[in-house]
Amino acid sequence: MNYKTSNPEENKKIVSEFLEKLLPKEDIATVVGLYGDLGSGKTTFTKSLAKFLGVEGVVISPTFVIEKIYSLENKPFKHLIHIDAYRIEKSEEMLNLGWQKIVSDKENLIVVEWPERISDILPEHIKIKFDHITENERAIEIFE
Ligand code: ADP
Ligand code: MG
Repeated sequence: MNYKTSNPEENKKIVSEFLEKLLPKEDIATVVGLYGDLGSGKTTFTKSLAKFLGVEGVVISPTFVIEKIYSLENKPFKHLIHIDAYRIEKSEEMLNLGWQKIVSDKENLIVVEWPERISDILPEHIKIKFDHITENERAIEIFE
């Protein structure tokens, strides 16, 4: 699916449509890779996603944190896990953060910014590609 937004608010509609169809897998966590340059809207999309899932408060960019885990209530998933792999140099760093454990839990929804940094340990995942068009316009393409 292809979308175009003219401001960050417009992510809401895309996110609600995306989440409506998203159900846990039978074996492992659901992983979503957010591809795109700095400033293309990956964190903005994740914030919108978190809001729809009932996460309260601000979802900060975890660039300096790498991984943030939010508990969800009354949702198909029990946790939203937001990973920003920008600063990861080797996938082992992710393994050291307990990657295998979070991926093996089918109740986890894992959203990864800069998934190409850990491509060798990512399972099959939903890909979302963000493109900067103008200052306030972004193209969002979802490959499912
Ligand atoms: P990334 O995580 O990909 O580096 P961010 O989501 O942190 O990007 O930053 C995107 C920036 O672009 C934010 O400052 C946001 O306010 C701005 N922006 C402007 N227009 C849009 C839009 N249509 N969609 C998303 N972000 C937008
Ligand atoms: Mg970001």
